[in-house]
Amino acid sequence: MAYIGSLDQGTSSTRFIVFDDSGKIVGQHQLEHTQILPQAGWVEHDAAEIWQRTQDVISGALKAARINGSDLAAIGITNQRETTVIWDKSTGAPLANAIVWQDTRTAEYLNSLSDQTKSTVTFKTGLAIAPYFSGSKMNWFLNHVPAVKTAVQEGRALVGTVDSWLVWNLSGGARGGVHVTDVTNASRTLLMNLETLDWDEELLNIFGVPRNLLPDIKSSSEIYAKTDPSGPLGSAIPIAGILGDQQSAMVGQACFDRGESKTTYGTGNFALLNTGTEIVRSKNGLLTTVCFKFGNQPTHYALEGSVAVTGSAIQWLRDQLQIINTAPEIEPLAKSVSDNGGVYFVPAFSGLFAPYWRNDARGVVVGLTRAATKAHLARAALEAICYQTRDVLDAMSADSGVKLPEMRVDGGITANELCMQMQADIMGVDVIRPLIIETTALGAAYAAGLAVGVFKDTTELRNKWQEGMRWKANSGSTLASDGYRLWKKAIERTLNWLD
Ligand code: ADP
Repeated sequence: MAYIGSLDQGTSSTRFIVFDDSGKIVGQHQLEHTQILPQAGWVEHDAAEIWQRTQDVISGALKAARINGSDLAAIGITNQRETTVIWDKSTGAPLANAIVWQDTRTAEYLNSLSDQTKSTVTFKTGLAIAPYFSGSKMNWFLNHVPAVKTAVQEGRALVGTVDSWLVWNLSGGARGGVHVTDVTNASRTLLMNLETLDWDEELLNIFGVPRNLLPDIKSSSEIYAKTDPSGPLGSAIPIAGILGDQQSAMVGQACFDRGESKTTYGTGNFALLNTGTEIVRSKNGLLTTVCFKFGNQPTHYALEGSVAVTGSAIQWLRDQLQIINTAPEIEPLAKSVSDNGGVYFVPAFSGLFAPYWRNDARGVVVGLTRAATKAHLARAALEAICYQTRDVLDAMSADSGVKLPEMRVDGGITANELCMQMQADIMGVDVIRPLIIETTALGAAYAAGLAVGVFKDTTELRNKWQEGMRWKANSGSTLASDGYRLWKKAIERTLNWLD
C-alpha cells in the first residue's frame, strides 16, 4: 500500500489529505487563515500564516492517518490560483502581504494599457485583461512597496504564486529552497506564452517583471525537489505534482482527453473543457488556459468559463433575505413547490461574466405575481445556478465544436439533488458526481503519484474514477425549452441597469 499526500491550499483554508493508492482518504486536517481586507476592493493573505497553517495541517493529517511523513511516496500541491506572493530569499519572510486573486486594486493600471498592448497580452496568454491574474499584482508589488524595491535591487526578492511559495518553503526555504511553478499556475500570470510555455520577454516588459525574480516553469507532474527533513514531514519526500485548483479537479475527475469537462459548484462555478493539445481561442468570452502537462508528455489545454455568483446567491438568500437558515435548507424549500411559478432570478450582483461580460448589469427578480412565495424564489435561485452554467457550457461548445456527452460535477452544491436534477434537465445530458468528491486534492495526488511511479499512466487513473451518483436528463423537460427562453429574457432585463 502506497500513500500520497495532497496539500490543498485554498482561498479560505489549507488542507492536507493523505490518500492511499486506491484514492481512498486515510487522514486529513484543515485550518482556515485570515482574510485581510485593508480597503474596498483589496484582499490579502499573510503568506507566513499560510506557511504556518501548511505545517500544522501536514502534522495533523499524518497524525489522523497514523503514519509518518516517511511513509509517503510523494506529495502533490494544488492551490488557489493567481494569488501572488513576494518574499526575501535570504530571510524567508514575505516582503508584503500576498495579493489575493479577488483583489481589484490593479484595475485602473490595466485600463491604462493601450488597446494594442491589451490585445498582445490576450493573444499570447489566452486570458482577459483583468486584475485577477498575477502579472498586474507583481507590477503593483514592484512599484508600490518600498521593501520590495530595495530587496529587488539587492537581489534578495523572489515572486510567485502560492504553489511556488510552498514548494520553496517545503524544500528548505532560505537554506536552499527550490523556486519552481507548474505550467497551469504559470498560465494564470499574464506572463507566460501559451505556445512556448515559457515566460515571454514582451509580456515581462509590459508588466515590468524581471525574469530572475520568477520561478522556473515545470510540468505538472515531475519531481521538483525533496522536502527538507527538518520541515513538517520530517523526512525527504519527493514533491512531485503541482496544479492550480481548477486544473487539479480536472485531473481528479480523470478528464484526460479532448472533449472531457468538469464543472465545480462552489461560491462561484468553474467549468473547464479539455481541448486536447490544441489551443482554442474563444470567441465567446471564455479563457484559454493550460489544463495539465505530465512530465515530457504533450501539453493539454482547456477552455475555462466561470460564473461569479452561484453558491453565493444561496448565501445571499440565507444571510440577507433570511428565507433559509442554512444552505442545504434551500432544497426542501424549493421542493415544496412544483415549479418556479414564473419567477426568474438573475443574481448579477456585480455584473455578468462569461459569456455576457456586462459590467452594467445588476441582479433582477422578474415574473413576480401575487402568488409568488419564497419557495418560488428558492427554486428560481437553484435554476439560476443551472442556467448560468448552461450559458457557459454552450459557449464552450460553440468555441470548440464539442457537444458535451455528459457533465462531471463536484463542489459543495452537488449535495443538492434537486439542483443537480435541474442541471441535467436544463443541459439535456446526464450529470455525474464521482464517488470521491475531493477531486481537487485528488488531482494533485494523482499528478505526484504518476511522477514517482505509484500510478503507471492516465489509463490506470481513468479506471479508478468511479461514478457515485447520476442524474439522468429528462428529455423534453420544459426547463430546457421554455424555461431557458425565459431565462434569456430575464438576462435582458438585467442589462443597461447602471447608467
Ligand atoms: P468553495 O470551495 O467555493 O468555498 P464549496 O464547494 O465549499 O465552495 O461550496 C460552498 C457553497 O455551496 C456555498 O456558497 C453554499 O452556499 C453552497 N451550498 C452548500 N450546500 C448547499 C446545498 N445543499 N444546496 C445549495 N447550495 C449549497
